[in-house]
Amino acid sequence: RAKSTVSNTICFYDPSMDQAARERNALAIEMREGLKRGEFELYYQRQNDTVSREVVGFEALLRWLHPQRGMVSPVEFIPIAEKTGFIFELGEWVMRAACAEAASWKRPLRIAVNVAPQQLTDPRLPGLVHEILLESGLSAARLEIEITESSIISDHQYALHAIRQLKKLGVKVAMDDYGTGYSSLSTLQSFPFDKIKIDRAFIDGVVTSKQSAAIVRSTLILAASLDIPVLAEGVEREEHMEFLRNEGCLQVQGFLFGKPTPRSGIEDIVNGTDGAAGEPDAEANAEL
Ligand code: C2E
Ligand code: MG
Ligand code: MG
Ligand code: MG
Repeated sequence: RAKSTVSNTICFYDPSMDQAARERNALAIEMREGLKRGEFELYYQRQNDTVSREVVGFEALLRWLHPQRGMVSPVEFIPIAEKTGFIFELGEWVMRAACAEAASWKRPLRIAVNVAPQQLTDPRLPGLVHEILLESGLSAARLEIEITESSIISDHQYALHAIRQLKKLGVKVAMDDYGTGYSSLSTLQSFPFDKIKIDRAFIDGVVTSKQSAAIVRSTLILAASLDIPVLAEGVEREEHMEFLRNEGCLQVQGFLFGKPTPRSGIEDIVNGTDGAAGEPDAEANAEL
């Protein structure tokens, strides 16, 4: 952070903000270079059935291994990519890499891919997804596109159109981070989601906070009445799993079963050579 040496003078600009802006610019430029140089990689986090405990799919999560900065979190670089428009190029790379990866698996597990709001409202998206499915050979039903609430609030009508186009391809569409934005009962009813992912903000509290438990419970009841399966994110403990299974939640994703790992970490599961796909990942838990 830039140290202010002008604190006694009247100053109309904030030097620390200037520094943050410069930092964002630097990252924005380095991102383009980084993509060309192969610094981006997909990690995969398993999604498990709460009853059988089997792995049913994976979410692809983007990582940037910067040569000087080390591992940069998507929480940091995705917003910059969105602001600069680089998200289109980056998102296309993610979609290609994720579909090619899933197409190479022996087991027909599902792959979930995050799509940013600008991508969803890009009229080229359905065509691009179609093209990527054809070139990768991945069957459309194995691809699940995750969108957030901010994707549907800006242009409700167009978002609905885009989702319908994607669903015509046979792709599944999931509502990510449910409960953190503006989604209401009517949103869920008017959008043809194949899945709702409850945000992890509510999961830790299911065993300690009445409010969190109530939010999760009522979401599960509502989703069941609309016939939409629910996945809970951020499941770290066996107690969370038990609560969720008892309340009718079908799937979970979280450190209890495994952290996001590079491709090498899922090899055995996707090729069916692990023999214990349903057991919580002891190594992942040891890292907690
Ligand atoms: P998300 O899509 O909601 O992904 C789930 C995030 O929760 C991941 O963070 C994952 O590592 C984390 N997580 C999963 N289980 C647990 C748990 O048990 N405990 C805790 N504390 N965290 C858990 P990650 O990988 O850092 O990604 C953060 C966000 O960045 C994602 O949230 C998504 O919004 C965005 N993102 C990641 N990859 C992509 C991408 O390829 N495209 C776009 N547009 N956004 C992406
Ligand atoms: Mg997601
Ligand atoms: Mg999420
Ligand atoms: Mg999230």
